[in-house]
Amino acid sequence: MKSMTCKQLGGACDLTFQANSFEEIAALSKKHGMEMFQKGDKAHLEAMNKMKELMQTQDAMKEWFESKRKEFDSMPEDK
Ligand SMILES: [Zn+2]
Repeated sequence: MKSMTCKQLGGACDLTFQANSFEEIAALSKKHGMEMFQKGDKAHLEAMNKMKELMQTQDAMKEWFESKRKEFDSMPEDK
């Protein structure tokens, strides 16, 4: 298992997600983001808007995903 925070994944808080793969942790962060969005959490809404701006092109999205995947891969395993 590895851990990354909401902030590390483009979010706005220090909530920690744990998963065995990047796909899994991305799904967890997305689910959390949607929950925060539904609650109307301002910090998360701002973070999401920033992400939206960043994700204007397929390439930008791919690049962001790959860089986060590398970050995840380079994280130490949880003990
Ligand atoms: Zn969050």
